[in-house]
Parts: sequence; structure tokens; C-alpha cells
Amino acid sequence: MAERQQTVAIIGGGLAGMTLALSLAKEGSILPSIYELREEGDNRGANIALAPNGLRVLDHVGIYDQIRTKGFNFEAVTTYNARGQNLGSFFNGSRKYYGYPALRIHRSLVHQGLLDKVKEQGIPIYSNMKLLTVEGETDNGVKLIFENGQTVEADFAIGADGIHSRVRPYIVDVELVYSGSIGVIGLAVPKNQLHESHKNISFPAFTFGKSGFVAMLPSSYDGSVVDFFSTFPFPSQSKEYWDDFMAHRDKQQKMLVERFGGDDWPKHISKVVREQAKDNLNGHPFFEVPELEYWHSPKGRVILLGDAAHAMSPLAGIGASLAFEDAHSLMYTMTHKDFKTRGLDLLSIWEAHRKERVKKVLTTARENGRKRRPESNGFKQMAKELIMWGQSLWNGPTGGMAWMYGYKVEDGFGLPVV
Ligand SMILES: Cc1cc2nc3c(=O)[nH]c(=O)nc-3n(C[C@H](O)[C@H](O)[C@H](O)COP(=O)(O)OP(=O)(O)OC[C@H]3O[C@@H](n4cnc5c(N)ncnc54)[C@H](O)[C@@H]3O)c2cc1C
Repeated sequence: MAERQQTVAIIGGGLAGMTLALSLAKEGSILPSIYELREEGDNRGANIALAPNGLRVLDHVGIYDQIRTKGFNFEAVTTYNARGQNLGSFFNGSRKYYGYPALRIHRSLVHQGLLDKVKEQGIPIYSNMKLLTVEGETDNGVKLIFENGQTVEADFAIGADGIHSRVRPYIVDVELVYSGSIGVIGLAVPKNQLHESHKNISFPAFTFGKSGFVAMLPSSYDGSVVDFFSTFPFPSQSKEYWDDFMAHRDKQQKMLVERFGGDDWPKHISKVVREQAKDNLNGHPFFEVPELEYWHSPKGRVILLGDAAHAMSPLAGIGASLAFEDAHSLMYTMTHKDFKTRGLDLLSIWEAHRKERVKKVLTTARENGRKRRPESNGFKQMAKELIMWGQSLWNGPTGGMAWMYGYKVEDGFGLPVV
């Protein structure tokens, strides 16, 4: 008699959840289904940068070719000081070094690409299904309770339900932690409306000055539309304060103008924060999931991945790519020939590997945060710029980031992958 296929209920039809479902479906031995809180077509979000380590996974699940022409493909990011002097560059993506350029693209387009593929593969995806709780697990499976009263039973449940995960408390109940930084992004400024000083720089450009940091990145395929964003330290505030901040673009703009609207910044930056894109500003405080003791439950029937396991402030611009890596490596773990007999051991190996990688990325994100913060005087800022320039020369074209962008799950993570 043919063996029954195992079932996996994936909670969250976001980037991690759909990627895991597609990876599992491609391998074929496990039946995934997806339960998503939102209605289909609710594709909110902004532009994100996807790095080669994430794009490689999207290529594996068959959507890279479809999305790569819908955003801006780029390789080097050039860094400048506020006087317009070049401090060096690094490859955020590279066909030569990593096999893929980086891609700046609207999140909804990636989401739609994944969703189209999920449907094409016939993977069940249920909208308006808000998980309330994981009721419990046995040696054979897990029971899930949804807000609409439905219950679902499956052999495994995956918490791919983002930073505010409802699956996570079943494994470990933690409070989110404020990172100490906020970000404000301005979307979709036509490049030809920028002050002509932009002609002296290469995009994408990261500019570092005494009062902080501003990035400018094209986001359309032809590079004619540009986003700008800044992240900076900010004291912790009440929920009411954050809600008010996120709802008021004028307050977000004021913060930008105070920091970057003066004559000590290049005109393409000071003008854009003073005059342009106010209607398209989005500000966020960054919260993080503290380091979790476990990403899986005691019996190994409930597993976390993506932001549910390790949401971090986007100072390394890599959270989505990490979520894709999680999904891809979890697929190799769950479809391993020994998973049925040694599932808990294999999950522990996977989890240890993923935690180590996330920790390393987090260290880089913290370092980026330090580089981006304002300095109290011009000498400190000049010293910082000198160090950045020296590091760029020392690190060469990959900027010391090959470990991050060149990562391939197939290179192994303690389990043989075939
Ligand atoms: C301002 C900002 C900028 C960023 N920029 C970048 C960037 O440039 N590059 C990058 O790589 N990363 C970036 N990130 C990080 C990236 O967005 C996340 O790491 C990524 O979205 C994680 O994917 P996920 O699938 O784990 O979670 P999510 O994308 O949050 O998906 C979770 C899904 O679960 C669903 N869900 C939630 N609760 C439930 C429930 N109870 N029941 C059912 N479904 C539920 C949600 O509706 C959603 O569809 C940024 C993050 C922020 C906040």
C-alpha cells in the first residue's frame, strides 16, 4: 500500500510561507496548504531590495524570471559623504560573484509572483483565515484554531505569520523589543525631477553625513523612478506616539527636513526631503523578535521561520532573503530521507544553522546602524568617513559581504542536500 503523504499547514501566505509551500510542492513528498489572514489581492507594502541569496531561492521555485523585469536590477552601491566625495562601493548583487544582480522591487509584485505560482501548482491557499491559536500537538500531528471557528489538523504546522506571529507563543512567548531606530522612506520620485546635483553620483547611492544617512535607490526597471530612505536612532515611545507618527506624513517629513534639509547636504537630497514625495512617505519604528531559545516545539510538529522566528530592523536590507533561505533549507530538512525517524534531530541541526546565520546578519545590521547614526561633531564624522573609505579599499569589490550574498543552501548546513 502506498504510504500516506504528510500534510503541512503553513500559517501565513507571505514571502516565507508561499516560498516554503512552493519548495515542498516541487520536491513532492509532502502536501502543503496555506492559511492566510488577509483577503486575496491585499498586497500592501513598499519597495524592498532582494539580494542574490534570496533571488537564488526564488529562481529555484520558478518565479525569478517573472519578477526580475518588474524592478530595478543593480550590482554596486556607491557610498558618499555629504560633500559628494566617493567613499567606495560594494556589490549588493553581482552576476560575476553571486550569479544574480540585486533587485529593488515592490513587495506586492514578489507576492503576486509567488501567489500565481502557488495557484499554478494547485497548492491550496485559504484567505481570511486568521489563526488564533495552536491548540496542541500529539506525536502524530497538530490542531489549529482559526478566528472564524474553523479547526484544521495537519501533521505539521509552520508559523510563517510574520513579526506578530500567533504560532510563536505556542513555542516560546516573548515580547517584541524596540530596536532603538526608526526609518522613513519616500517612494517613487521621478529621477528627472531631482535636483541636477544627482548627475554627479551613481545610483544606488548611500550618503553619510554628520546628521545621519540617506539612501537613494531606483525602483523601476529602467531606473527612472527613485526611492529615498533614512534610518536613524530614536528614543522609545508609547504605542500612541508610534501610531500618531505612522499616521502623519508631515511629522515624518519634519524629521527628515531637520536632519537632511540643510545646505550641508547635496541638493538632490535636501530638495527631495523638503519639497518632494511628501504624499508617498512611510515611517516605521523598528521592532525585533528577541533571540528565541527554540524555533520548533518539543515534539517538532510546530516550526517557525522568517520574521516569526527572527524579525530584525531592516538595517541590512536582507530580512526577506533570510526568510527565503529559511524556507528553502526547511524544505531540505523536512524532505530528508531520515526525517520520519529522526525528525527532531534534523530540526535541531537546521535550527542551529539558521540561528548562527541570523546572528551574523544581525551583527552586520547593528554595524550598519552605527555607521548611519549622526555624530556629535565634524571630526568624528570625518574619522568615520576615513574608516569607511579605508575599509572599502581593504575589502575590495564584494565589500566583505560575500558570506551574506553568496550564501547557497545547497552548500550544506549539516545535512546533505541533493
Ligand atoms: C520598513 C521595512 C523595510 C524592509 N525592507 C527590506 C528590504 O529592503 N529587503 C529585505 O530583504 N527585507 C526587508 N524588510 C524585511 C522583510 O519585509 C521581512 O523580513 C519579510 O517580509 C519576512 O517575510 P515573512 O513571510 O516571514 O513575513 P511577512 O512578510 O510579514 O508575512 C507574514 C504573513 O502572515 C500573515 N499572517 C499574520 N498573522 C496571521 C495569522 N494570525 N493567521 C494567518 N496569517 C497571518 C500576514 O498577513 C502575512 O501575509 C523590511 C521590513 C520593514 C519593516
